[in-house]
Amino acid sequence: MTTTPAQTGAGHEPELDETATIARDLIRFDTSNHGGGRSAGEAEAAEYVAGKLRDLGLAPQLFESEPGRVSVVARVEGADRTKPGLVVHGHLDVVPADPANWSVDPFAGVVKDGMLWGRGAVDMKNMDAMMLSSLGEILRAGERPARDLVVGFLADEEAGGVLGSHFLVKEHPELFEGATEAISEVGGYSTFIDGRRAYLLQTGEKALIWIRLRARGTAGHGSQMIEANAVTRLAEAVAVLGRQQWPIALTDTTTALLGEVARILDVDVTQVAPDELVLRTGSAKGFIRGSLRTTTNPTMLTAGYKHNVVPDTAEALVDIRCMPGEEAAVLAEVRELIGDDVEIETVHTDIGLETPFSGPLVEAITATLDRHDPGAPVLPYLLSGGTDNKALSLLGIAGYGFAPLRLDEGMDFPAMFHGVDERVPLDALSFGSRVLRDLLATY
Ligand SMILES: [Zn+2]
Repeated sequence: MTTTPAQTGAGHEPELDETATIARDLIRFDTSNHGGGRSAGEAEAAEYVAGKLRDLGLAPQLFESEPGRVSVVARVEGADRTKPGLVVHGHLDVVPADPANWSVDPFAGVVKDGMLWGRGAVDMKNMDAMMLSSLGEILRAGERPARDLVVGFLADEEAGGVLGSHFLVKEHPELFEGATEAISEVGGYSTFIDGRRAYLLQTGEKALIWIRLRARGTAGHGSQMIEANAVTRLAEAVAVLGRQQWPIALTDTTTALLGEVARILDVDVTQVAPDELVLRTGSAKGFIRGSLRTTTNPTMLTAGYKHNVVPDTAEALVDIRCMPGEEAAVLAEVRELIGDDVEIETVHTDIGLETPFSGPLVEAITATLDRHDPGAPVLPYLLSGGTDNKALSLLGIAGYGFAPLRLDEGMDFPAMFHGVDERVPLDALSFGSRVLRDLLATY
């Protein structure tokens, strides 16, 4: 598609449907979350969302965990109130964006080439907008969702949800009363396997363990013979963990995924290595490769203060992601790998999740997608990262990643998450809103 002046965002605004308009408006609120409590805050975006919910006749509640850190929750009465409720949630914060690296202003909500560009276009103001527009379609038609919905727009997901989902689950669990399942990021998008479109439904998340390594040694002059050099000791441990080839560790989800991929490719799953199968899952391999085994990525290093002084300590941070329930075993193996010379401190942990790729919700999702994109298979996958579903699981709520988007083959969707020039096709947004409307009205 050629780019006309109207599509660049300069001068005239292009004609956008409701979903794209809301997503664009949300991108224009800079809700950057820098972590460590530093954030632009979600308050203005939360007020905007609350206004949209009030326009639909709902009574949203706003919760401010810390100044400016606002989450919005509204309950929508379903047609059948005896059914357990469904939580439909998205986060309002985004990771920061450096405008110098982008080809458009990341907070301008630019529309060009048939796509909406900006931080949050994919993660996850797209879904926030799809939630509002699909709900609007249902309620304005005088209908109701099939069951009670708890609709949540949450703060602080990009820093672990401490001031958002975890705050609500701890301080206001009554908001989620009667709900047993949830849908949110990161799933529902399409990829191509052997030229055939397939949708990925997220049915699990790896656990995370963030550790600090600390090596101690002898401080001294940079010109001396120093056997116990803290930097050298730390560097050895960092290199071991960074290079470690963790073995394949399949779960129910990844076993089912590989089986489905093999079926689509018409190969024998026992005859092809899991890594090889994953390489044939199109752009989704960016998400799936990390889900087959533990990963131990060194991410930060700290040591020393002058070029000619050997420091007495050196520290590194390592981001460990492992299968749900494997945390203790993986930590023991990390200890074994790096030896006793280097201390390990656990800084932060979060649980892994795995929900079944079966049952009424999975069947409803599969059937709904089939009505909108006939014949496209739906495959389960395990997310290597984490979402607010971890917090909701503490209330016994089974969370799925389902933010439906029909994408073309050329789109490297996983690269858009926290990436430069994040963007989403306008037609994928309207597709997602239609699918969500259908699911919420019928499930
Ligand atoms: Zn996200």
